[in-house]
Amino acid sequence: MTTIDLPLLPLGRGKDLSAERGVECPGDLPAASDPDLVARAAAAKAALGDRVFVLGHHYQRDEVVEFADVMGDSFKLAKDAAARPEAEFIVFCGVHFMAESADILTGPEQKVILPDLAAGCSMADMARLGQVQDAWDALTDAGIADVVVPITYMNSSADIKAFCGRHDGAVCTSSNAEVALEWAFAQKGPDTKVLFFPDQHLGRNTAVLKLGYSLDDCVVWNPLLPNGGNTVEQLRAAKVILWKGHCSVHGRFTPEVVDELRATIPDVQILVHPECAHEVVLKADLVGSTEFIINTIEAAPAGSSWAIGTELNLVKRLANAHPDKKIAFLDKTVCYCSTMNRIDLPHLVWALESLVAGTVVNQITVDPETETWAKLALQRMLDLPGKTSRD
Ligand code: SF4
Repeated sequence: MTTIDLPLLPLGRGKDLSAERGVECPGDLPAASDPDLVARAAAAKAALGDRVFVLGHHYQRDEVVEFADVMGDSFKLAKDAAARPEAEFIVFCGVHFMAESADILTGPEQKVILPDLAAGCSMADMARLGQVQDAWDALTDAGIADVVVPITYMNSSADIKAFCGRHDGAVCTSSNAEVALEWAFAQKGPDTKVLFFPDQHLGRNTAVLKLGYSLDDCVVWNPLLPNGGNTVEQLRAAKVILWKGHCSVHGRFTPEVVDELRATIPDVQILVHPECAHEVVLKADLVGSTEFIINTIEAAPAGSSWAIGTELNLVKRLANAHPDKKIAFLDKTVCYCSTMNRIDLPHLVWALESLVAGTVVNQITVDPETETWAKLALQRMLDLPGKTSRD
């Protein structure tokens, strides 16, 4: 089963072996040095009018965000797209799994476009369907699959979401992971276990810090090892089986830098995303989703000091928008999400101008069967009580 019509390739693999990108743009990109790029993007967007709706994730570059009709996290953007049925084209300035979710939640007549097919997500790539199926088979052999509820983070491919739909599981976001895990643990009686993927950190931080499980209740499933690197007894004893995946951006933040910033910036408050490692989250003052981070900074008093552990484009934008507050990045080196940054102005111009010329490029489609099951897993999330709509 595949959900991808056009080749989205993991980094460094694929047709163009000499390129780090792994996949080439199938058209003629404008030169990045073209001084008319901004004017060309504006003209193409104006020519398309209401036929096009441009979505911009918070981690996108400023040059791209300038042309977004709406900003948000992945799930908000997918819902925003679904709320615009009159838009024939949804240009998703984000990464591949987000465009898939938008395709799942929008109407069949709407076309979702990802300006650069190399804009994948390293975390989503860490859980491939074959690996997840192998893990399920191993859990079946261990005699526990019938009490395991699979929960996948929004940051996963459509076929992983569909796997959860098929196996009585659900999707979660970083805002509703606690409610999703509570729901999961109520599904199969007192022996229920949760298989959480692809982000081990969000799973661990939620299970331990929100639901009160201990670190000993959690095991890590390494898809490259037999039984995920666990004995059958360890799997049977575990309450939470955490997939060995992580975000390459949020995985950079360390407890040492937290200590350093506390020693150098008076009264600094550490604000991090739950994709950060458990040791970092333990040292933070506040932990929450992208929207939580934005809202926290907006509500913070003038003069307050913050060090933020999330993607740098967003942190820079927050710092620029709030000059009355001191905002630092929680890492010593500059690190953007490299795949998010692949959506740049030349790709956006190319995608928009192609649409003006009547050619749909880089359309992301999810096959109907995958869509049905993935939608079920998404619906279970939407049916959860309380806050369900943030990532
Ligand atoms: S920031 Fe992390 S989770 Fe988000 S797209 Fe980049 S690699 Fe994936």
